[in-house]
Amino acid sequence: MPVPDPALVVLVGASGSGKSTWASSRYRAAEVVSSDALREVVGSGEHDLDASADAFALLESVVSARVGRRLTTVVDTLGTDPARRRRWLTAARDAGLPAVAVVLDTPARVCRSRNAARDRPVPARVLTSQLAAVATTTDLLDAEGWDAVLVLTPDDVPAAGPRNTPSSRHPAPAAADATAQLPGVLREEGAGLRGVVLQLSRFPAEGDLLTWLRDMAGAAEEAGLAGIALMDHLIQIPQVGRAWDPIPEPWVTLGALAASTTRLQLGTLVTPVTFRAPGITAKAAATLSALTGGRAFVGVGAGWWEREHTAYGLGFPSARARLDALEHGIETMKALWSPGTKPYAGRRVSLPETTSYPRPVGDLPVIVGGGGDRTLRIAARLGDGCNVPSDDAGLAKVARYLALVAQAGRDPSTVHATVLDLPLVGRDRDDVWSRVERHRGRAPAATFAARHHAGTASEHADRLAALAGLGVTTVFVAPVGLDGPDDVLALAPLAGAFG
Ligand code: GDP
Ligand code: MG
Repeated sequence: MPVPDPALVVLVGASGSGKSTWASSRYRAAEVVSSDALREVVGSGEHDLDASADAFALLESVVSARVGRRLTTVVDTLGTDPARRRRWLTAARDAGLPAVAVVLDTPARVCRSRNAARDRPVPARVLTSQLAAVATTTDLLDAEGWDAVLVLTPDDVPAAGPRNTPSSRHPAPAAADATAQLPGVLREEGAGLRGVVLQLSRFPAEGDLLTWLRDMAGAAEEAGLAGIALMDHLIQIPQVGRAWDPIPEPWVTLGALAASTTRLQLGTLVTPVTFRAPGITAKAAATLSALTGGRAFVGVGAGWWEREHTAYGLGFPSARARLDALEHGIETMKALWSPGTKPYAGRRVSLPETTSYPRPVGDLPVIVGGGGDRTLRIAARLGDGCNVPSDDAGLAKVARYLALVAQAGRDPSTVHATVLDLPLVGRDRDDVWSRVERHRGRAPAATFAARHHAGTASEHADRLAALAGLGVTTVFVAPVGLDGPDDVLALAPLAGAFG
């Protein structure tokens, strides 16, 4: 059974049962609060029993401060004092942090022999009473209200570390149930966009943009990613960087990527319909499709950032008018990509001819970005896919989108239900948390870590694998602090897990 993360983890076990070893193999040193270690801080050493009261006073304040910040806290004491356990559990409840008791149920003889081998063994009768207290505690835990009680015997130590797994108090998103009613949906093979697509949103190329792009694309292919998506903005957006950070024009840039890739799907996420006349976007996307032998996709949206429109002399009409333009734009693009040159007379759009060459090679999916209900309906009726955030609210929209597709009389297994995920990926737990500290800005560490599912690549892989079960066909990943090819190569486990 995996331990939720973040969580309060209270260890219970006699001396020599392996508490400190278990904790240090799974958690960062700063996450473990140990009465022995604090005795050494405030006394002469970890066995200085005269320092116990001071050590426990410190321990209580460390636990309370960390839990209050919703930071993972592993309490390494005997764990047999019911009043302390109640206090810690209450603190976790108050903070909304899952609380887990972990019992190191190591046989008495093993504890005794490990204890005897120590420099300063605890006296045999003390160990005997500890073992009895642990047995009593184990019986009490179930009634105390822990989110989970984990009893480990030496052969039973789980291989996996803590995972970002929802606890019983943090149930899985409602989308799980909604999509479960659509059996077999979106499992069909063959869609080129299926899998994990890298979204590039910042371009820290330091001078040589083309070389940087080629290196990133090479790494993406090597990591097994399905494609690369580029943001389409005229000024770098505040969510990603500073206004003077470079943000190259995506269709030109995709042309450069086309010349240095052989397998990746290439497209925008997303092109605002307010930037270019839809026929011009249709021409650019069809050209990219021709250049890549059918590896193009086009993300479209209504546009949202007034500043870039004003700065570039573009109009920024009302939300309603922009959504009208989105419908109009998708219809125009599809008309221009259809076979032949015949006139087109559709619901919103009429064109005297549809002469547009080169035509796309194979499919050229239109992915509609945005989670508003009208946007989802547009995506379901006119587009080939949707793109929403990967959080719980976004996953509920995936379910809503698939239902709308079915309502529109279309086959949900033919569309792309895509999410945008902003993972923070680290090599190990220490690296993860140093990245959280580097990138969190003013956000509290726990909030930032949760928003970005801060974890190792294998933890993200497990999380993404679960998204497939919710009907998601493509995960666009825009990792926090993505700098260079090494960060892209680190995504290989994610690509392996999804797609
Ligand atoms: P604590 O007193 O409960 O914190 O126990 P420790 O974690 O300090 O472990 C006591 C001794 O047992 C140490 O020498 C550890 O190296 C050893 N030990 C702990 N866990 C294991 C285990 O799972 N397998 C083996 N073989 N030794 C262990
Ligand atoms: Mg210990």
